[in-house]
Amino acid sequence: MFGRFVIFMMPLMPRKLIKRFAMRYVAGEDFDSARQVIQNMNSRNFHATLDILGEDVSSAEQADGVVAGYKSVLKHIAEDGLQANISVKLTHLGLRLDEAAAIQRVHDLADYAKSLGIFMRIDMEDSSLTQKTLDIHNEVREGRGNVGVVLQSYLKRTEEDARQLANTGANIRLCKGIYREPPDIAFKHPDEIRQSYLRCAELLLEGRGNYTAFATHDLQLITALEEMVTFRSIPKDTFEFQALLGVPVEDTLDALVARGFKVRWYVPFGADWYAYATRRLEENPDIASYMFRQIFSPQNRSR
Ligand SMILES: Cc1cc2nc3c(=O)[nH]c(=O)nc-3n(C[C@H](O)[C@H](O)[C@H](O)COP(=O)(O)OP(=O)(O)OC[C@H]3O[C@@H](n4cnc5c(N)ncnc54)[C@H](O)[C@@H]3O)c2cc1C
Repeated sequence: MFGRFVIFMMPLMPRKLIKRFAMRYVAGEDFDSARQVIQNMNSRNFHATLDILGEDVSSAEQADGVVAGYKSVLKHIAEDGLQANISVKLTHLGLRLDEAAAIQRVHDLADYAKSLGIFMRIDMEDSSLTQKTLDIHNEVREGRGNVGVVLQSYLKRTEEDARQLANTGANIRLCKGIYREPPDIAFKHPDEIRQSYLRCAELLLEGRGNYTAFATHDLQLITALEEMVTFRSIPKDTFEFQALLGVPVEDTLDALVARGFKVRWYVPFGADWYAYATRRLEENPDIASYMFRQIFSPQNRSR
């Protein structure tokens, strides 16, 4: 309830205040800011994946601009020797405008990333795009290998998707899922979503030639995953842990790195920070109350 109230009030809050919150989750408005964040992460043995903020472009020119933006990011990653790759959203490349043109943009970006030896992840959006995203991933990965996708454990279909991908050598990020989905297709109870996550993790780890990225801040899950990989003697170069920039799990991630695990932060940047922050909050009102505490905690007030 409180989270929903905060969301309702957001349009009335000063943009400067919202920006203070948003910048915890966003590396900055341009690549130079993101570069500094990543260099700092790399110096502490963390890896990164860069996301140019935005979804659902409204013209082909905008979508072409997104491709140009990502190519520039890829060039900088290579030139600066950053331990980083990219994450892209298909609607940002125009999927809802013109499917064929969007797929062509994904091929183009994947080719350019491959020419630089860099990996590219296709983020997963809402359930209306799940099958399309998996199909496009399968098509673009074919013959390239530097492309991966995301599975969301809150979807009831995901266990079967994990089974299908488990022996294909795919590179899968496994997350819980952030969009609001109806109960006929999605688990709603946190324990069900966790159980589904662990079943999918098991399928992906047991598969041959896969690489799995465990994207979660849920300490209970992180502990269970660490036990799972240790118990099964899964080689440490076949999986990694991932977290979103700004979520306060640094101590846990530092400890994982100290124990020899690979950890990657998801680093969004770009001018579209306001839309990103408000959309994330609308999708997950619980985070809105977290934001309110962050903004108004005594520690922050003194800044
Ligand atoms: C690297 C990465 C990539 C992702 N990619 C996608 C994607 O492509 N598609 C998709 O649908 N979803 C994606 N997500 C989001 C994911 O689906 C979840 O919505 C999100 O990670 C929260 O779930 P959780 O597993 O952290 O568990 P939760 O139970 O939601 O969170 C566990 C704990 O983490 C803390 N926490 C979580 N989020 C926040 C926050 N924003 N601010 C402060 N504290 C927080 C809280 O303390 C919470 O109790 C991604 C997440 C990560 C980490």
